[in-house]
Amino acid sequence: MDVSHLLDNLNDNQRQAVTAPAAHRLVLAGAGSGKTSVLTRRIGWLIQVEQASVHSILAVTFTNKAAAEMRQRIEPMLGYPIGAMWVGTFHGIAHRLLRMHWEEAGLPRNFQILDSDDQKRLVRRVIQSLELDEKRWPPKLAQWYINGHKEEGRRSHHVAPPQDPQNQGLLQIYKQYEETVERLGVVDFAELLLRAHELVRDNPELQQHYQRRFQHILVDEFQDTNSLQYAWIRVLAGDRSKVFVVGDDDQSIYGWRGAKIENIQNFNRDFDGAETIRLEQNYRSTGNILNAANAVISRNSGRLGKELWTDSGDGEAIDLYAAWNEQDEAQFVVDRIKAWVETGGRRDEVAILYRSNAQSRVFEERLIAAAVPYRVYGGHRFFERQEIKDALAYLRLIENDQDDTAFERVVNLPARGIGNSSLEKLRAAGRAHSCSLWRAVAVCAENNLLAARANTALAAFVGLIASLRDACHGLPLHEQVEHVIEKSGLLTHYQNEKGDKAEARVENLKELVSAARNFDPDEDVVAERPEGMTPLAEFLSHAALEAGEQQGGQWEDCVQMMTLHSAKGLEFPLVFLVGLEEGLFPHQNSMQDAGGLEEERRLAYVGMTRSMQKLVLSHAESRRLYGKESPGIPSRFIDEVPAELMQEIRPRAQVSQPLYRPSQARGRSLEDNTAFGGIALGKMVSHAKFGDGIVMALEGSGPNARVQVNFNDVGNKWLVMQYANLTEL
Ligand code: ATP
Ligand code: MG
Repeated sequence: MDVSHLLDNLNDNQRQAVTAPAAHRLVLAGAGSGKTSVLTRRIGWLIQVEQASVHSILAVTFTNKAAAEMRQRIEPMLGYPIGAMWVGTFHGIAHRLLRMHWEEAGLPRNFQILDSDDQKRLVRRVIQSLELDEKRWPPKLAQWYINGHKEEGRRSHHVAPPQDPQNQGLLQIYKQYEETVERLGVVDFAELLLRAHELVRDNPELQQHYQRRFQHILVDEFQDTNSLQYAWIRVLAGDRSKVFVVGDDDQSIYGWRGAKIENIQNFNRDFDGAETIRLEQNYRSTGNILNAANAVISRNSGRLGKELWTDSGDGEAIDLYAAWNEQDEAQFVVDRIKAWVETGGRRDEVAILYRSNAQSRVFEERLIAAAVPYRVYGGHRFFERQEIKDALAYLRLIENDQDDTAFERVVNLPARGIGNSSLEKLRAAGRAHSCSLWRAVAVCAENNLLAARANTALAAFVGLIASLRDACHGLPLHEQVEHVIEKSGLLTHYQNEKGDKAEARVENLKELVSAARNFDPDEDVVAERPEGMTPLAEFLSHAALEAGEQQGGQWEDCVQMMTLHSAKGLEFPLVFLVGLEEGLFPHQNSMQDAGGLEEERRLAYVGMTRSMQKLVLSHAESRRLYGKESPGIPSRFIDEVPAELMQEIRPRAQVSQPLYRPSQARGRSLEDNTAFGGIALGKMVSHAKFGDGIVMALEGSGPNARVQVNFNDVGNKWLVMQYANLTEL
């Protein structure tokens, strides 16, 4: 049989990895060196050359999308469909095992899966049922405790009795939680893996069956496996299977979720006769991009050390854009994307990568304004998010109390003791009198249709909306939004929820205030504004339009937006790595300890190495995020890129005021120089951190006034005037 297509274009090391005789193997190599490609071709090789059956292969990828792609690549290689092959994520495969062997796993046939939010809600109920103080044992902490133990393979009875009351409480919660999920027949994410592991480990027949079946186990992104996943691979492999893993210690970015880089080191110890193969040629990126990424990651300690080179030439310089603020940053990126498309590029060749989900909003707005289709991976688009829709529902009710959808959404959010049955009666009254729910409240009260408590609660809700409306009268739009978020109880509601998702929700709510502040009716609605439309009404329609429109389908040609974490394994010709500011990236929470910072740096490495032809870095000198404006200090990761690989982009000539914020520019003289407080070109100034220097340039005005100083010690820097605190010498 001609199998040359399996080896086409491979370099020697790659070929060695694809064709290696059966043994355990670790392919350890940097980004873009062909690890995933090699793993895929290895599967083809095993089937076509080694005559392995599709049933005998288990391939673990990091996302479902990656699994689908792997199938798509293997099928043309073989020329027939491989539906029967097990390719999927750890969770997906564990789930499959549990569905097939639910009885042996001790689960009801129709067990349900708890997502992280559901899990936390359940943990809270457990804490309440134990009458423990939620302040002392917050649900989020208990959830983290439970999952942490599960990820290490420990049930509550494996945990040694703690001495201190705090841990005693946590263990008690874990025990009670175990009983509860058992009774409800539900399975959380960590439980999927733990139970699948126990299923195979404690069931000799099943164990034998699967060990015999899976002759070949292949794992991509091995650096991000946790202890339990590792143990599971070991038990599935037994003595017979051959395990082929590929990974890169420099791309381990899930330490915060229990991933263990050590698994790479342990592999050679735990899998007999394992051989390590290194790939050193990068096929993805230009020389400049690769050198920049290599320089950044070289700052980390304790690396396994890999050389990575490319023969693709230097390529273009890496662009660095220092934006005035987040709006300017987004506009710059959008303009660049338009230029890319105008010169023949496709939109889906472009990715915007950011550290936090909340950063996506500004980009989404600019993309929509420019009619550029885009797709946000992972997470909803901003105005479609639950908490945003909740806040908008309050605002809609203020604007129009007949809006039943909005009424339904928030009448009992936060909880006000208005249950389903009361709501059903209210709906019935509304139907009977053909009136809105809002009016039905009065109808119910007059006719005593509801229990007294429900009546009172509904009256209070109606009163709340009325008082919100009064309070908002005459306020600027963003203050209306802020007021409503706070006084409706929504903010507190989400603040009390704790947990990652709730935290993100609180951040998003504050981000909605920023959105309102930056909302400029003039530029969005232009001529089509009906007479007398309030700014709030305009904002609400803007939000509604944004939510529905231009949601590009998966296969459409649209710009790709995602967090750095979700970009793992992917590649794009043009990559924008945005928001490179201290506190944002590296993220504030990770800056306390060296380990956290190194993980952030690996994330930077992952981000940079996604780009093939062109990498654009950007930061904003002032950023409004989570409803707060703060000065941005350029990320240390920018400094770690060798200067000769970068070129600074600075559209000085055209911007003395950001042109797209006309409402702010209006009425302000462009010569307005008071912002510079007497500081003029050529003056000597002193800065607390950078020392003394000479003023080289002045730009902008008002909050955007910036000054360039050539410091004696650190060279040229641009500073935002209002934060620079310069003193004249
Ligand atoms: P990451 O660490 O980001 O997951 P990786 O090591 O898995 O990267 P791949 O995604 O497999 O790398 O490959 C990167 C790019 O290089 C892909 O576009 C792939 O098609 C290409 N490539 C890999 N090997 C070769 C080769 N021998 N010749 C030409 N192109 C190659
Ligand atoms: Mg890969």
